[in-house]
Amino acid sequence: MKTGFSETPASFVSASQTARFDTENWAESNMFCPNCGCSTLARYPANRPVADFYCDQCGDQYELKSQSSAFGRKVADGAYYTKIERLASDTSPNLILLQYSRVHRRVENLTVVPRYFFVPQAIERRPPLRSTARRAGWVGSNILLDRIPLSGRIAVVQSGLVRDRREVLDEWNRLRFIEERHGEARGWLLEVMRCVQMIGRSDFALADVYLFERELSAIFPRNNNVRPKIRQQLQVLRDGGYLEFLGNGRYSLC
Ligand SMILES: [Zn+2]
Repeated sequence: MKTGFSETPASFVSASQTARFDTENWAESNMFCPNCGCSTLARYPANRPVADFYCDQCGDQYELKSQSSAFGRKVADGAYYTKIERLASDTSPNLILLQYSRVHRRVENLTVVPRYFFVPQAIERRPPLRSTARRAGWVGSNILLDRIPLSGRIAVVQSGLVRDRREVLDEWNRLRFIEERHGEARGWLLEVMRCVQMIGRSDFALADVYLFERELSAIFPRNNNVRPKIRQQLQVLRDGGYLEFLGNGRYSLC
């Protein structure tokens, strides 16, 4: 994988047109499929609503988001209701977050997020477009990146350096157990992963996770048994090889 962009046609006048051309071409020539390890991704015809690339080998789809600044808490995405429908049917694309440098004309940072990290609480509904807009009434969405556990953002390029592909595939494979949970069960699992991440230590106690009880009951208001739910998610995380039980209510991240 090379990080540099190829030549841009001289006919392009706007920076956004150039950036789109550069980043899409770069992904088509350089990006591999982290789901199965296939060495290329194929591009969909332009303007397909929900995905930009797909893997010919495993069929996984990818959506590419590119910008020159670092990604913040959220990133704008397509139509809200389409997005939510695809979450429900488990057909969301994986996400590629590409940050590039205009000056150096290269990829600076690139992370991939497996599709099963996208649950309803990570998607925000945007207000409908005003009546004066060309697409009046259209409802868009934001992906809330800060609701995705950090372990779900797998680095491929870091500060211009390309990571070993094997490491990327291993990280992706280690998270596959999440895919086996569906609907609200997956939402719970990801929220507990986020709580564990916020504790900020690789060794922690059950009591540390219980500190998030109120936050979790606000996210899942229909559930009155938050503590048993937390323990259940910790077991799923252990069975998935994400953490270890040390005994006496102590845990360690693997
Ligand atoms: Zn694949």
